[in-house]
Amino acid sequence: MDLFEYQGKQFFASYGMPVSPGEAVTTVHDAVAAAERLGTPVMVKAQVHTGGRGKAGGVKFAADIDAVRTHASNILGLDIRGHVVENLWIEKASDIAEEYYASFTLDRSAKQHLGMLSAEGGVEIEAVAEQNPDAIAKIWVNPVDGLTEDQCRRWVLAANLNPDVTEQAVELLRKLYEAYTAGDADLVEINPLIVTPEGRLHVLDAKVTLDGNAGFRHDLAPFDATQPRDGREAAAHSKGLQYVGLEGSVGVIANGAGLAMSTVDAVNQAGGRPANFLDIGGGANADVMAGALEVINNDPDVRSIFINIFGGITRGDEVANGIIQAMDRVDIRSPIVIRLDGTNAVVGWSMLDPYLSDRLVLVPTMVEAAEQAVALAQGSAP
Ligand code: GDP
Ligand code: MG
Repeated sequence: MDLFEYQGKQFFASYGMPVSPGEAVTTVHDAVAAAERLGTPVMVKAQVHTGGRGKAGGVKFAADIDAVRTHASNILGLDIRGHVVENLWIEKASDIAEEYYASFTLDRSAKQHLGMLSAEGGVEIEAVAEQNPDAIAKIWVNPVDGLTEDQCRRWVLAANLNPDVTEQAVELLRKLYEAYTAGDADLVEINPLIVTPEGRLHVLDAKVTLDGNAGFRHDLAPFDATQPRDGREAAAHSKGLQYVGLEGSVGVIANGAGLAMSTVDAVNQAGGRPANFLDIGGGANADVMAGALEVINNDPDVRSIFINIFGGITRGDEVANGIIQAMDRVDIRSPIVIRLDGTNAVVGWSMLDPYLSDRLVLVPTMVEAAEQAVALAQGSAP
């Protein structure tokens, strides 16, 4: 789950990291009111789930209220790499002496956390990574041991920050690591992490991705409420389904994230385009199947539905029952291709048998099923 910058800053602040005061708004009027409360100069900042906002004109310095009005009206509605700006963050402007970069993420191949720190932060960090990778000090942290103070200090020294801020950096980076681990984040990134002319380290930008699966340990509701979702995704989400909307015409239902991804691949390989990714999970009952079919059925782009189930814990007879009940409850517009294999598949097949027609086909393998579903979506089925 990606957070907006202002939410990332709230998240960081809750772990004791220094951020600037500000207000999140959605209108020019509220932007002006926020700036009046905060006192100018302020930054007017687009809140979108993508980086490079500064370069795209989405981050502006406003010396006075007139400038706030101008920048807020220019930035609201701006398209930044396909993200239309609906939210602004009005923040008290900071004076900058130096711009650093700091982040933690998981290095899967090393099975350790990876910290990156550079004295050359700012909007050109990608260029630094490419042209001068030595300017980025890396640290691998064993998740069992955590980040010790000594280790953190050596990392800070390796990054050649201004020596005056070494102790502040050690303290702040340990808090960043704490936020990353205790907060169950997949990514925490500060770019720029600035030094003010008074020599204070300060968080000026925040990119945070939280692990939604750890949501039971945290209150993610406020972040969840602002996730951009299309109508289909919102409907699926309200039914508790793992759904991602895509642009194609083959609706996909599978059990297990791995099989759902393979199913999306199989559809692509057969020359079609999946309309979605949908994992109904293990032990999917009739309710779940009905909910899944409903969401896919409401997608006007869907021309065929590919149900791909491999029964492990999930039993084929339950799946068949689910499909039969779901068809009873939902008036399905598109033909359905089913591939059902694994535990109790044969029982499932015989249960589905009386319902089979050119609108409901049972196909023995995943590849053939993908081909059929694609052919049906393209209107070229036999
Ligand atoms: P990004 O472009 O999406 O990474 O957005 P940032 O929040 O990092 O802002 C882009 C750039 O704007 C930063 O690298 C800073 O140089 C500048 N900037 C952001 N906030 C301030 C501020 O409070 N004061 C000043 N002077 N510059 C700022
Ligand atoms: Mg930035």
